[in-house]
Amino acid sequence: MKIAIDGPAGAGKSTIAKRLAAEYGYIYVDTGAMYRAMALYLIRCGISADDKPGIEKACEDADISIKFIDGEQKVILNGEDVNGLIRTQEVSNMASASSVNGKVREKLVSLQQKLASDTDVVMDGRDIGTKVLPDADVKIYLTASTAVRAKRRYDELKQKGETSDLAVIEREIEERDHRDMTREISPLKQADDAVLVDTSDLGIEEVIKEISKIISGKTGA
Ligand code: C5P
Repeated sequence: MKIAIDGPAGAGKSTIAKRLAAEYGYIYVDTGAMYRAMALYLIRCGISADDKPGIEKACEDADISIKFIDGEQKVILNGEDVNGLIRTQEVSNMASASSVNGKVREKLVSLQQKLASDTDVVMDGRDIGTKVLPDADVKIYLTASTAVRAKRRYDELKQKGETSDLAVIEREIEERDHRDMTREISPLKQADDAVLVDTSDLGIEEVIKEISKIISGKTGA
């Protein structure tokens, strides 16, 4: 069983995908974390987002893999668990900027397809339904208004004790959406056979309920 969840930043993909994976007993694969690990590598090497040859060389040098510890995904970058280092705004912006690169996408898409090849998965990202798992059993396109998504990020950061500026977060989300939706290779878009779920006015439990209904409608699961 393959469940693909795509959508823009802050739509609630990871929260929902994690919950669904736990409920159905599937593995949750967060593909954004892999783009983030790649971005962290680029930042550490001082390679800028527009340095195409530098990024392509980095694709050969950065070894990215995934481990599951107690059901939780850990991203390993050249032997180091970088899970705790990839959620900063700097990494978010670099991940979005460097994910336009064809070599980066090729490398990570192939890793993602391998991960899903012999197990049931809930996988979230931007191109899961359109590119990584085009034959997924269920495809969901999860979205919410920009204002709601920015407020969620703001609250998340506040909860972690980090101060941030809501207007700046909203602007960065808009920039990321624009880049993700207009890039040449595998832009973020709803797959033709994906079901749209707008979470702007829904709580987590309501979203889970709605998606569970979609899953049983499609698969009887
Ligand atoms: O989902 P997350 O915010 O962690 O993703 C970070 C960035 O990685 C996104 O803004 C997007 O540019 C890129 N990404 C992608 N394809 C995916 C997952 C993430 O291009 N499947």
